[in-house]
Amino acid sequence: MKANEVLDNLKRRFPNEPEYHQAVAEVLGTIEEAYNEHPEFEKSNLIERLCIPDRIFSFRVTWTDDKGQVQTNMGYRIQHNNTIGPYKGGIRFHASVNQSILKFLAFEQTFKNSLTTLPMGGGKGGADFSPRGKSNAEIMRFCQAFVLELWRHIGPDTDVPAGDIGVGGREVAYMYGMYKKLARENTGTFTGKGIEFGGSLIRPEATGYGNVYFLLEMLKTRNIDIKGKVVAVSGSGNVAQYTVEKLIELGAKPVTMSDSDGYIYDPEGIDREKLDYIMELKNLYRGRIREYAEKYGCKYVQGARPWGEKCDIAMPSATQNELTGDDAKALLANGCFAVSEGANMPSTPDAIDAFLEAKILYAPGKAANAGGVSVSGLEMTQNAMKLSWTREEVDEKLKGIMKSIHEQCVKYGSKDGYINYVKGANVAGFMKVAKGMMAQGIL
Ligand code: GLU
Repeated sequence: MKANEVLDNLKRRFPNEPEYHQAVAEVLGTIEEAYNEHPEFEKSNLIERLCIPDRIFSFRVTWTDDKGQVQTNMGYRIQHNNTIGPYKGGIRFHASVNQSILKFLAFEQTFKNSLTTLPMGGGKGGADFSPRGKSNAEIMRFCQAFVLELWRHIGPDTDVPAGDIGVGGREVAYMYGMYKKLARENTGTFTGKGIEFGGSLIRPEATGYGNVYFLLEMLKTRNIDIKGKVVAVSGSGNVAQYTVEKLIELGAKPVTMSDSDGYIYDPEGIDREKLDYIMELKNLYRGRIREYAEKYGCKYVQGARPWGEKCDIAMPSATQNELTGDDAKALLANGCFAVSEGANMPSTPDAIDAFLEAKILYAPGKAANAGGVSVSGLEMTQNAMKLSWTREEVDEKLKGIMKSIHEQCVKYGSKDGYINYVKGANVAGFMKVAKGMMAQGIL
């Protein structure tokens, strides 16, 4: 297999899908060597079978807004690969959603889920619906209309959706309610459900906590203590909030958060009380991060991301391609020595190259943010067993999973004393799916 040829071919067959090409390019570039050690892979064209999703559903979602206007959006579900378990991955509601973005996310999810050690395949879905400024009733009607199409493609042993950008506990609950009406079963086909109806403790916290647990494992390899370290976090949604919560608990100093309008820089550090304010602002009033700066009298920068601020550690937790090559250079020039990704593919290829060249601790999202889907996997287990575990039990399991993902990265990514977590995560995630595909025949 020649990575460039495979990529060119995919670009020709699926033009105008830049995010999908980007995600595939990043993986192919690092697995080429491992792949070519197995001629049987090439013989069965494993690489194309792995890069091209099993199937894609796309559908119109029709709903009525509060003014009585009938609105349409496009909804999708990408079932990428189910070699090691049912398709599993979130649903994203955001104006930017299109097939390219969901294909990149479903592709990434397949490798990420493989790394978790749990039996989950990869999938992703969503709609180009923007929850911004919508009333609760509009959100409910949209979720119901979305599931009216989606429900026939999903099930507890076939495809289990969850949340992502724009989809949290409220949206999952509305979707699950509608799903149950249509499917007439109660087996937990969504994860991220409310705790009263089959959800798992620690699921809301899991992505952020998991990312900090992964960071701790990385720091351990260089004997660095997290206490007192200045951390730049981007985003202010679920992942960013629980990243900051865990950082505060461990004595680190998170100094930035952001939303799509701009970022705040609080040199004193975001403490527990300030984080409570952000959680209320974002989860309840659905306000803007700018209001934090007004309340606490700190710096707010409109239309920018926080990577120019001095920090020891960066944790991008907003969205794809939010950290460019120039941002990476700025971080490195300011002494940043670790980057751990809470979002999916937040660093551009240039940024990744800069981090690897500088040999800093750099964890790609598919390893560092796998805690979210891991606890989703644990939610599926609890649903199947019809019982629920305590916070402590789930948290311990999450820690164990993040540690094991780190070990896999070390095993497949170490060379000349440097751990290349990109290569480690890609090769480890790939090998498991590839072996499963080979065993199951040409499908
Ligand atoms: N959307 C999350 C992710 O990117 C979680 C998916 C899930 O829980 O299924 O991994």
